[in-house]
Amino acid sequence: MQSSPDINTLDKSFAVENDALLEAVRLLVEHTPGAPAFAFDDLPAHLPEAGAGERELLPDLAALVLGGAHRLDSELSFAHMDPPTPWLTWAMALWNARLNQNLLHPETAPIARKIEELTIAWLAPFFGMDGGHMVPGSTVANLTALWAAREIRGIEEVAAPITAHVSIEKSARLLGLQFRPLPTDDQGRMLPEAAVNLEQSCLVLVAGATSTGVIDPLILAGSAAWTHVDAAWAGPLRLSETHAGLLDGIEHADSIAVSAHKWLFQPKESALVFFRDATAAHSALSFGGAYLAAPNVGLLGSHGAAAVPLFATLWAWGRDGIASRLDTCLAAAEKFAAFVEEDERLELFGRPETGVVVWRPRDKSVDQISAILPVGLASRTTIAGSEWLRCVSANPSADVDAIIMAVQKVI
Ligand SMILES: *Cc1c(COP(=O)(O)O)cnc(C)c1O
Repeated sequence: MQSSPDINTLDKSFAVENDALLEAVRLLVEHTPGAPAFAFDDLPAHLPEAGAGERELLPDLAALVLGGAHRLDSELSFAHMDPPTPWLTWAMALWNARLNQNLLHPETAPIARKIEELTIAWLAPFFGMDGGHMVPGSTVANLTALWAAREIRGIEEVAAPITAHVSIEKSARLLGLQFRPLPTDDQGRMLPEAAVNLEQSCLVLVAGATSTGVIDPLILAGSAAWTHVDAAWAGPLRLSETHAGLLDGIEHADSIAVSAHKWLFQPKESALVFFRDATAAHSALSFGGAYLAAPNVGLLGSHGAAAVPLFATLWAWGRDGIASRLDTCLAAAEKFAAFVEEDERLELFGRPETGVVVWRPRDKSVDQISAILPVGLASRTTIAGSEWLRCVSANPSADVDAIIMAVQKVI
Protein backbone atom coordinates (compact mmCIF):
# COMPACT_ATOMS: atom_id res chain seq x y z
CA MET A 1 0.00 0.00 0.00
CA GLN A 2 1.32 3.44 -0.86
CA SER A 3 1.61 5.78 2.11
CA SER A 4 0.66 9.42 1.66
CA PRO A 5 3.48 11.96 1.72
CA ASP A 6 4.25 13.18 5.21
CA ILE A 7 4.46 16.95 5.04
CA ASN A 8 4.96 17.85 8.69
CA THR A 9 7.92 15.79 9.86
CA LEU A 10 11.51 16.86 9.95
CA ASP A 11 13.50 15.04 7.25
CA LYS A 12 16.66 13.98 9.05
CA SER A 13 18.58 13.73 5.78
CA PHE A 14 18.81 17.52 5.83
CA ALA A 15 20.27 17.64 9.34
CA VAL A 16 23.41 16.13 10.79
CA GLU A 17 22.67 12.75 12.29
CA ASN A 18 24.70 10.46 14.54
CA ASP A 19 27.94 12.26 13.94
CA ALA A 20 27.77 10.81 10.43
CA LEU A 21 29.32 13.91 8.99
CA LEU A 22 32.29 13.60 11.35
CA GLU A 23 32.59 9.99 10.24
CA ALA A 24 32.73 11.20 6.62
CA VAL A 25 35.52 13.60 7.54
CA ARG A 26 37.35 10.85 9.45
CA LEU A 27 37.19 8.62 6.37
CA LEU A 28 38.55 11.45 4.24
CA VAL A 29 41.50 12.04 6.53
CA GLU A 30 42.32 8.44 7.36
CA HIS A 31 41.60 6.68 4.10
CA THR A 32 44.90 5.64 2.64
CA PRO A 33 45.21 5.88 -1.12
CA GLY A 34 45.79 2.58 -2.82
CA ALA A 35 43.60 0.68 -0.35
CA PRO A 36 41.42 -1.79 -2.28
CA ALA A 37 38.64 0.15 -3.92
CA PHE A 38 35.05 -0.99 -3.85
CA ALA A 39 34.65 -2.59 -7.24
CA PHE A 40 32.88 -0.26 -9.61
CA ASP A 41 31.46 -3.24 -11.48
CA ASP A 42 29.59 -4.35 -8.36
CA LEU A 43 27.39 -1.28 -8.48
CA PRO A 44 23.76 -1.75 -9.53
CA ALA A 45 23.34 -0.94 -13.22
CA HIS A 46 19.98 0.70 -12.58
CA LEU A 47 18.89 3.23 -10.04
CA PRO A 48 17.97 1.19 -6.95
CA GLU A 49 14.28 1.20 -6.08
CA ALA A 50 14.95 1.41 -2.34
CA GLY A 51 17.84 3.56 -1.13
CA ALA A 52 20.79 1.95 0.64
CA GLY A 53 20.84 4.56 3.44
CA GLU A 54 23.33 7.36 3.95
CA ARG A 55 25.21 6.12 6.98
CA GLU A 56 25.23 2.55 5.70
CA LEU A 57 26.79 3.64 2.44
CA LEU A 58 29.65 5.72 3.83
CA PRO A 59 32.25 2.90 3.98
CA ASP A 60 31.47 1.72 0.43
CA LEU A 61 31.42 5.28 -0.85
CA ALA A 62 34.82 5.87 0.74
CA ALA A 63 36.25 2.72 -0.83
CA LEU A 64 34.84 3.71 -4.21
CA VAL A 65 35.39 7.47 -4.34
CA LEU A 66 38.45 7.90 -2.14
CA GLY A 67 39.98 4.51 -2.94
CA GLY A 68 39.46 4.84 -6.69
CA ALA A 69 41.01 8.29 -7.06
CA HIS A 70 44.56 9.42 -7.72
CA ARG A 71 46.14 11.62 -5.10
CA LEU A 72 47.34 14.93 -6.47
CA ASP A 73 49.32 15.55 -3.30
CA SER A 74 51.42 12.42 -3.75
CA GLU A 75 55.16 13.09 -3.83
CA LEU A 76 55.28 11.75 -7.41
CA SER A 77 52.33 13.79 -8.68
CA PHE A 78 53.86 15.92 -11.44
CA ALA A 79 51.78 15.26 -14.56
CA HIS A 80 49.02 17.81 -14.90
CA MET A 81 47.91 21.35 -14.21
CA ASP A 82 45.87 19.98 -11.31
CA PRO A 83 47.31 20.89 -7.95
CA PRO A 84 46.49 19.43 -4.56
CA THR A 85 44.11 21.61 -2.55
CA PRO A 86 44.81 23.02 0.93
CA TRP A 87 42.63 21.53 3.68
CA LEU A 88 41.04 24.88 4.37
CA THR A 89 39.36 24.68 0.96
CA TRP A 90 37.92 21.26 1.84
CA ALA A 91 36.26 22.82 4.86
CA MET A 92 34.97 25.78 2.84
CA ALA A 93 33.66 23.45 0.11
CA LEU A 94 31.76 21.52 2.76
CA TRP A 95 30.30 24.73 4.18
CA ASN A 96 29.38 25.83 0.68
CA ALA A 97 27.55 22.55 0.01
CA ARG A 98 25.66 22.85 3.28
CA LEU A 99 24.60 26.48 2.64
CA ASN A 100 24.10 26.11 -1.12
CA GLN A 101 24.11 29.86 -1.69
CA ASN A 102 23.06 30.94 -5.15
CA LEU A 103 24.99 34.00 -6.24
CA LEU A 104 22.34 34.76 -8.81
CA HIS A 105 20.06 36.01 -6.04
CA PRO A 106 21.38 38.58 -3.55
CA GLU A 107 18.82 37.48 -0.95
CA THR A 108 20.07 33.86 -0.94
CA ALA A 109 23.73 34.81 -0.90
CA PRO A 110 24.21 38.11 0.91
CA ILE A 111 27.72 37.50 2.23
CA ALA A 112 28.92 35.16 -0.53
CA ARG A 113 28.39 37.86 -3.17
CA LYS A 114 30.38 40.35 -1.13
CA ILE A 115 33.16 37.81 -0.63
CA GLU A 116 33.40 37.31 -4.39
CA GLU A 117 33.54 41.08 -4.94
CA LEU A 118 36.29 41.47 -2.37
CA THR A 119 38.29 38.54 -3.76
CA ILE A 120 38.13 40.08 -7.23
CA ALA A 121 39.12 43.46 -5.77
CA TRP A 122 42.15 41.85 -4.08
CA LEU A 123 43.36 40.12 -7.24
CA ALA A 124 42.47 42.41 -10.16
CA PRO A 125 45.15 45.05 -9.44
CA PHE A 126 47.95 42.49 -9.86
CA PHE A 127 46.86 42.32 -13.49
CA GLY A 128 46.14 46.02 -14.00
CA MET A 129 42.43 45.20 -14.28
CA ASP A 130 39.62 46.95 -12.42
CA GLY A 131 37.17 44.11 -11.83
CA GLY A 132 35.61 40.94 -13.15
CA HIS A 133 33.79 37.90 -11.88
CA MET A 134 34.20 34.23 -11.13
CA VAL A 135 33.39 31.42 -13.57
CA PRO A 136 33.84 27.64 -13.38
CA GLY A 137 36.98 27.49 -15.53
CA SER A 138 39.09 29.43 -18.00
CA THR A 139 37.15 27.76 -20.81
CA VAL A 140 34.20 29.85 -19.65
CA ALA A 141 36.44 32.83 -18.81
CA ASN A 142 37.78 32.85 -22.39
CA LEU A 143 34.29 32.60 -23.86
CA THR A 144 33.04 35.39 -21.60
CA ALA A 145 35.95 37.67 -22.51
CA LEU A 146 35.57 37.10 -26.27
CA TRP A 147 31.84 37.68 -25.93
CA ALA A 148 32.56 41.06 -24.26
CA ALA A 149 35.01 41.89 -27.06
CA ARG A 150 32.32 41.19 -29.65
CA GLU A 151 29.67 43.23 -27.81
CA ILE A 152 31.87 46.22 -27.01
CA ARG A 153 34.27 46.47 -29.97
CA GLY A 154 32.33 44.59 -32.61
CA ILE A 155 35.26 42.31 -33.37
CA GLU A 156 34.79 39.95 -36.29
CA GLU A 157 37.73 37.66 -35.78
CA VAL A 158 39.75 35.94 -33.08
CA ALA A 159 43.48 35.71 -33.82
CA ALA A 160 45.41 33.36 -31.56
CA PRO A 161 48.64 31.37 -31.67
CA ILE A 162 48.19 27.96 -33.20
CA THR A 163 49.24 26.57 -29.79
CA ALA A 164 46.34 28.28 -27.98
CA HIS A 165 43.99 26.22 -25.83
CA VAL A 166 41.06 24.57 -27.62
CA SER A 167 38.64 26.81 -25.73
CA ILE A 168 39.70 29.79 -27.87
CA GLU A 169 38.65 28.26 -31.18
CA LYS A 170 35.59 26.77 -29.49
CA SER A 171 34.58 30.23 -28.24
CA ALA A 172 35.13 31.83 -31.65
CA ARG A 173 32.89 29.18 -33.18
CA LEU A 174 30.16 29.71 -30.56
CA LEU A 175 30.25 33.46 -31.05
CA GLY A 176 30.11 33.25 -34.82
CA LEU A 177 33.57 34.79 -35.19
CA GLN A 178 36.32 33.87 -37.61
CA PHE A 179 39.30 32.09 -36.10
CA ARG A 180 42.77 32.93 -37.38
CA PRO A 181 45.60 30.72 -36.09
CA LEU A 182 48.90 32.59 -35.91
CA PRO A 183 52.30 30.96 -36.38
CA THR A 184 54.68 30.42 -33.49
CA ASP A 185 58.37 29.83 -32.95
CA ASP A 186 59.59 26.29 -32.35
CA GLN A 187 58.83 26.61 -28.63
CA GLY A 188 55.20 27.52 -29.32
CA ARG A 189 55.43 31.28 -28.71
CA MET A 190 53.47 33.53 -31.05
CA LEU A 191 55.70 35.22 -33.62
CA PRO A 192 55.30 38.98 -33.06
CA GLU A 193 55.50 39.69 -36.79
CA ALA A 194 52.42 37.50 -37.31
CA ALA A 195 50.25 39.85 -35.26
CA VAL A 196 49.14 42.15 -38.08
CA ASN A 197 45.82 43.41 -39.47
CA LEU A 198 44.09 43.33 -36.13
CA GLU A 199 41.77 46.34 -36.49
CA GLN A 200 38.65 44.12 -36.34
CA SER A 201 40.21 41.38 -34.24
CA CYS A 202 40.53 40.12 -30.76
CA LEU A 203 44.16 39.15 -30.31
CA VAL A 204 44.58 36.30 -27.84
CA LEU A 205 47.94 36.01 -26.11
CA VAL A 206 48.65 32.98 -23.97
CA ALA A 207 50.52 33.32 -20.69
CA GLY A 208 51.56 29.76 -20.01
CA ALA A 209 50.74 27.55 -23.00
CA THR A 210 49.02 24.34 -21.98
CA SER A 211 51.54 22.05 -23.68
CA THR A 212 54.81 23.82 -22.98
CA GLY A 213 54.13 26.64 -20.51
CA VAL A 214 55.67 29.32 -22.76
CA ILE A 215 54.44 32.91 -22.64
CA ASP A 216 53.49 34.80 -25.81
CA PRO A 217 55.06 38.25 -26.31
CA LEU A 218 52.76 40.18 -24.00
CA ILE A 219 54.24 43.39 -25.37
CA LEU A 220 51.65 42.91 -28.15
CA ALA A 221 48.82 43.60 -25.68
CA GLY A 222 46.99 46.69 -26.88
CA SER A 223 47.83 46.23 -30.56
CA ALA A 224 44.39 44.91 -31.59
CA ALA A 225 40.78 46.06 -31.34
CA TRP A 226 40.69 43.97 -28.17
CA THR A 227 43.45 41.98 -26.47
CA HIS A 228 42.60 38.99 -24.33
CA VAL A 229 45.32 37.26 -22.32
CA ASP A 230 44.65 33.61 -21.56
CA ALA A 231 46.60 33.34 -18.31
CA ALA A 232 44.70 30.24 -17.16
CA TRP A 233 47.91 28.56 -16.09
CA ALA A 234 50.58 31.19 -15.39
CA GLY A 235 48.43 34.14 -14.26
CA PRO A 236 49.01 33.55 -10.53
CA LEU A 237 52.74 34.27 -11.04
CA ARG A 238 51.70 37.95 -10.86
CA LEU A 239 51.50 37.40 -7.09
CA SER A 240 55.16 36.35 -6.87
CA GLU A 241 57.60 39.24 -6.50
CA THR A 242 60.30 37.07 -8.02
CA HIS A 243 58.34 35.96 -11.07
CA ALA A 244 55.67 38.63 -11.70
CA GLY A 245 57.94 40.23 -14.31
CA LEU A 246 57.47 37.23 -16.62
CA LEU A 247 53.97 38.57 -17.30
CA ASP A 248 54.87 42.23 -17.76
CA GLY A 249 52.66 43.79 -20.42
CA ILE A 250 49.59 41.87 -19.27
CA GLU A 251 48.28 45.12 -17.76
CA HIS A 252 47.60 46.42 -21.29
CA ALA A 253 45.08 43.65 -21.98
CA ASP A 254 41.36 44.34 -22.15
CA SER A 255 40.51 41.04 -20.48
CA ILE A 256 42.33 38.19 -18.73
CA ALA A 257 41.41 34.60 -17.82
CA VAL A 258 42.96 32.87 -14.79
CA SER A 259 42.08 29.38 -13.52
CA ALA A 260 42.12 29.43 -9.72
CA HIS A 261 41.75 25.64 -9.75
CA LYS A 262 45.15 25.45 -11.37
CA TRP A 263 47.91 27.50 -9.74
CA LEU A 264 45.84 29.06 -6.97
CA PHE A 265 45.31 25.57 -5.51
CA GLN A 266 41.50 25.71 -5.52
CA PRO A 267 38.99 22.91 -5.79
CA LYS A 268 37.33 22.77 -9.19
CA GLU A 269 35.45 24.70 -10.56
CA SER A 270 37.11 27.99 -9.80
CA ALA A 271 38.36 30.60 -12.26
CA LEU A 272 38.35 34.33 -12.86
CA VAL A 273 37.67 36.61 -15.78
CA PHE A 274 39.07 40.12 -15.35
CA PHE A 275 38.37 43.23 -17.38
CA ARG A 276 40.27 46.49 -17.70
CA ASP A 277 36.89 48.25 -17.69
CA ALA A 278 34.66 45.90 -15.77
CA THR A 279 31.74 48.32 -15.62
CA ALA A 280 31.54 48.44 -19.40
CA ALA A 281 32.12 44.70 -19.77
CA HIS A 282 29.58 43.72 -17.15
CA SER A 283 26.95 46.03 -18.54
CA ALA A 284 27.50 44.57 -22.00
CA LEU A 285 26.97 41.08 -20.55
CA SER A 286 24.00 41.89 -18.29
CA PHE A 287 20.49 40.62 -18.59
CA GLY A 288 17.45 41.37 -16.45
CA GLY A 289 14.42 39.20 -15.85
CA ALA A 290 11.17 39.36 -13.93
CA TYR A 291 12.39 37.04 -11.21
CA LEU A 292 15.81 38.67 -10.85
CA ALA A 293 16.46 41.27 -8.16
CA ALA A 294 19.91 41.97 -9.57
CA PRO A 295 20.93 41.73 -13.21
CA ASN A 296 22.39 38.43 -14.38
CA VAL A 297 25.98 39.17 -15.43
CA GLY A 298 27.82 36.82 -17.75
CA LEU A 299 27.18 33.28 -18.89
CA LEU A 300 26.08 31.49 -15.76
CA GLY A 301 22.68 31.31 -14.19
CA SER A 302 22.62 29.72 -10.77
CA HIS A 303 26.11 29.44 -9.45
CA GLY A 304 27.78 28.72 -6.16
CA ALA A 305 30.21 30.48 -3.89
CA ALA A 306 33.52 29.33 -5.42
CA ALA A 307 34.97 32.56 -4.09
CA VAL A 308 34.67 31.35 -0.49
CA PRO A 309 37.49 28.74 -0.61
CA LEU A 310 39.62 31.10 -2.71
CA PHE A 311 39.05 34.02 -0.37
CA ALA A 312 39.80 31.78 2.64
CA THR A 313 43.06 30.60 1.04
CA LEU A 314 44.17 34.13 0.13
CA TRP A 315 43.29 35.43 3.59
CA ALA A 316 44.99 32.52 5.37
CA TRP A 317 48.17 32.48 3.27
CA GLY A 318 48.45 36.11 2.15
CA ARG A 319 50.10 37.11 -1.11
CA ASP A 320 53.33 35.91 0.37
CA GLY A 321 51.96 32.41 1.06
CA ILE A 322 50.78 32.02 -2.53
CA ALA A 323 54.07 33.39 -3.86
CA SER A 324 56.24 31.08 -1.79
CA ARG A 325 54.33 28.00 -3.03
CA LEU A 326 54.65 29.15 -6.64
CA ASP A 327 58.34 29.84 -6.17
CA THR A 328 58.72 26.32 -4.74
CA CYS A 329 56.96 24.85 -7.79
CA LEU A 330 59.19 26.79 -10.19
CA ALA A 331 62.33 25.70 -8.34
CA ALA A 332 61.17 22.08 -8.55
CA ALA A 333 60.61 22.40 -12.31
CA GLU A 334 64.07 23.94 -12.73
CA LYS A 335 65.66 21.10 -10.82
CA PHE A 336 63.87 18.46 -12.86
CA ALA A 337 64.73 20.24 -16.13
CA ALA A 338 68.40 20.43 -15.10
CA PHE A 339 68.38 16.69 -14.48
CA VAL A 340 66.87 16.03 -17.93
CA GLU A 341 69.36 18.36 -19.59
CA GLU A 342 72.35 16.69 -17.95
CA ASP A 343 71.31 13.09 -18.58
CA GLU A 344 72.40 12.11 -22.07
CA ARG A 345 69.65 9.50 -22.32
CA LEU A 346 67.08 12.30 -22.19
CA GLU A 347 66.07 15.22 -24.36
CA LEU A 348 64.70 18.50 -23.00
CA PHE A 349 62.23 20.38 -25.20
CA GLY A 350 63.21 23.78 -23.83
CA ARG A 351 63.88 25.70 -20.63
CA PRO A 352 60.73 25.61 -18.53
CA GLU A 353 59.35 29.14 -18.41
CA THR A 354 56.39 28.56 -16.11
CA GLY A 355 56.92 25.21 -14.41
CA VAL A 356 56.05 22.99 -17.40
CA VAL A 357 58.89 20.60 -18.30
CA VAL A 358 58.60 18.84 -21.65
CA TRP A 359 61.04 15.99 -22.22
CA ARG A 360 61.49 12.50 -23.66
CA PRO A 361 63.94 9.65 -23.78
CA ARG A 362 66.29 9.61 -26.76
CA ASP A 363 66.43 5.86 -27.34
CA LYS A 364 63.03 4.67 -26.17
CA SER A 365 59.58 5.63 -27.29
CA VAL A 366 57.30 7.86 -25.28
CA ASP A 367 54.83 4.94 -25.33
CA GLN A 368 57.33 2.57 -23.75
CA ILE A 369 58.33 4.98 -21.02
CA SER A 370 54.91 6.25 -20.12
CA ALA A 371 53.66 2.69 -19.71
CA ILE A 372 56.17 2.04 -16.93
CA LEU A 373 56.47 5.43 -15.24
CA PRO A 374 54.53 5.72 -11.97
CA VAL A 375 50.99 6.92 -12.59
CA GLY A 376 50.67 10.68 -12.22
CA LEU A 377 54.33 11.45 -12.84
CA ALA A 378 54.12 12.60 -16.46
CA SER A 379 51.43 13.29 -19.03
CA ARG A 380 51.86 13.17 -22.79
CA THR A 381 51.66 15.88 -25.37
CA THR A 382 52.10 16.12 -29.12
CA ILE A 383 54.08 19.10 -30.36
CA ALA A 384 54.46 19.70 -34.09
CA GLY A 385 53.46 16.10 -34.73
CA SER A 386 56.01 14.66 -32.34
CA GLU A 387 55.33 12.88 -29.02
CA TRP A 388 56.70 14.22 -25.74
CA LEU A 389 56.28 13.69 -22.03
CA ARG A 390 55.15 16.63 -19.96
CA CYS A 391 55.64 17.28 -16.28
CA VAL A 392 53.80 20.15 -14.64
CA SER A 393 55.00 21.52 -11.36
CA ALA A 394 51.65 22.27 -9.77
CA ASN A 395 52.26 20.30 -6.59
CA PRO A 396 54.28 22.10 -3.89
CA SER A 397 54.66 18.76 -2.06
CA ALA A 398 56.25 16.99 -5.02
CA ASP A 399 59.57 15.34 -4.15
CA VAL A 400 61.81 16.06 -7.13
CA ASP A 401 64.52 13.69 -5.94
CA ALA A 402 62.00 10.84 -5.76
CA ILE A 403 60.68 11.84 -9.20
CA ILE A 404 64.19 11.85 -10.67
CA MET A 405 64.86 8.44 -9.14
CA ALA A 406 61.62 7.06 -10.60
CA VAL A 407 62.61 8.35 -14.06
CA GLN A 408 66.14 6.97 -13.76
CA LYS A 409 64.67 3.55 -13.05
CA VAL A 410 62.83 3.36 -16.36
CA ILE A 411 65.18 4.99 -18.89
C1 LIG B 1 43.69 24.93 -18.67
C2 LIG B 1 43.70 25.97 -19.69
C3 LIG B 1 42.52 26.53 -20.18
C4 LIG B 1 41.18 26.00 -19.80
O1 LIG B 1 40.94 26.24 -18.45
P1 LIG B 1 39.93 25.35 -17.62
O2 LIG B 1 40.02 25.98 -16.29
O3 LIG B 1 40.43 23.94 -17.70
O4 LIG B 1 38.58 25.50 -18.27
C5 LIG B 1 42.60 27.58 -21.07
N1 LIG B 1 43.78 28.05 -21.46
C6 LIG B 1 44.96 27.54 -21.03
C7 LIG B 1 46.24 28.13 -21.51
C8 LIG B 1 44.95 26.48 -20.13
O5 LIG B 1 46.12 25.96 -19.71
